[in-house]
Amino acid sequence: MTDPTTAAYWHARAAALKFETGHFIDGAFVPSLDGRVFETVNPATGAVLAEVAAGSAADVERAVASARRAFRSGVWSRMDPRARLAVLEKFSALIEENAELFAVTDTVDMGKPISEMLNIDVPGSYTAIKFFAETADKLEGAVTSTAASALHYILRQPLGVVGLIVPWNYPLMMAAWKLGPALVTGNSVVLKPAEQSPLSAALLAKLFIEAGGPPGVLNVVQGVGEEAGKALALHNDVDKIGFTGSVEVGKLMMIYSGQSNLKRVTTECGGKSPQIVLADVEDLETTVSYCVNAIYGNQGEVCSAGSRLLVDESVHGDFVALFREKAAAGFNPGDPLDPATTMGPLVTSQHQKKVLSMIDSGRSEGAKLELGGGVPSALNQGCYVEPTLFSGVSPSMTIAREEIFGPVASVLKVNGIEEALSLANNTTFGLAASIWTRDVSTALRFGRDIEAGIVWVNCYDHGDMTQPWGGFKQSGNGRDKCLEALTQYTQTKSVWVNIGA
Ligand code: NAD
Repeated sequence: MTDPTTAAYWHARAAALKFETGHFIDGAFVPSLDGRVFETVNPATGAVLAEVAAGSAADVERAVASARRAFRSGVWSRMDPRARLAVLEKFSALIEENAELFAVTDTVDMGKPISEMLNIDVPGSYTAIKFFAETADKLEGAVTSTAASALHYILRQPLGVVGLIVPWNYPLMMAAWKLGPALVTGNSVVLKPAEQSPLSAALLAKLFIEAGGPPGVLNVVQGVGEEAGKALALHNDVDKIGFTGSVEVGKLMMIYSGQSNLKRVTTECGGKSPQIVLADVEDLETTVSYCVNAIYGNQGEVCSAGSRLLVDESVHGDFVALFREKAAAGFNPGDPLDPATTMGPLVTSQHQKKVLSMIDSGRSEGAKLELGGGVPSALNQGCYVEPTLFSGVSPSMTIAREEIFGPVASVLKVNGIEEALSLANNTTFGLAASIWTRDVSTALRFGRDIEAGIVWVNCYDHGDMTQPWGGFKQSGNGRDKCLEALTQYTQTKSVWVNIGA
């Protein structure tokens, strides 16, 4: 039980978990005012992990009031930037120190493999907080060139109270990506985690206080989207919503803004990201390995999943054969607490049903099933779906158009870059895209003409914190990571001083 390379170690850690299940308001865990709770379930086993406070508008009211008090007091918003930097660096260090606790918590709560938590989510989270911490004293205002009789300076100031509404596919990391820029710029925050994965947000809030963060600056309201999330997005004293989730709910955020106080809204939504493989691909083996990882990593529950494979007809046969081979060898669904597992269950049985029904639509609309297509026979207890591959997919099929958010890849045959680019852009989404080619001009042209916010050439999913993360078209209007995120949590103020003669 002391060897973290074994499943037994992680099962023992999971069995010993004790969860905080309340909202976190003004530096303390509190139950819902009306006492209601909801269950969060381990999707690998169906076991109820905890009963979590179900937030209502009244709980949101308390959290927003606490955030507003903290903001107006200046305890954080006017704190010396170097002191804010120190708190956030400590916060980042504490996340790193508690890596195993975060890893096992999100793994049991939403099903992703423990190895992904340890290698991607947890490092991606403490690195994000550290990256933004380091900007604390780098954000500058300006003095403009005006007539000598005036001094005009521009302050860049925090917005006030920010609501952060995040999804379940990377519970810790999506929260960290937004908390970093929101907090470092001096805002107070009310974080609303997804109801499918509420548990790690409570840990985050606790560690912020341990790092020296003042009470009331980071609050967490738990609850279902249609109630707690909606109340937050409609609140008249919330200055901004930073949202990550589906297009459907992203649109609602804008409606709620219009129905309330015209609060700022940034959205990071879904995708149907193309991976183009051209006839002059350098190394088909490597390319296929990337393509397989790009769709099956995190069970395909990734906004940027490379779900549309646009493969030139000259390499199509070899591509599909290699893809089947590498997918079967690399992704076998299993116990997410086993460090050797590369694919866990989907997040809920409801989501599993949705993904299976999309697979059915692929079959019934005439695509050719090359791999998977159902529930793994040995794993009928959890919410598992086999890695699935369709070839013979046409652009009008549902599986070519809609985000499935599961381990389902669709191969469309193309003839050359013109057709590939035109099909790649034939979507309402525009989050990510990749191209595999040896031709520099083709790659540069793709970089220029593809309608997507994140583009890869001869790779997929590479990047660091400097990379703007966000979409074109209905994939959203915000940018996470990157320095640009700071401007989304600040506003300018013009101060014109009349000097006189
Ligand atoms: P979702 O839109 O159902 O939920 C996201 C959040 O919104 C949750 O916290 C939920 O409780 C809340 N919510 C739901 N209905 C609401 C309402 N009516 N009012 C207020 N809040 C509400 O999305 P999901 O299923 O949790 O996440 C999957 C989606 O997120 C996918 O589409 C995926 O592509 C997208 N995503 C995008 C990015 C990105 O960076 N672009 C990253 C991760 C996930």
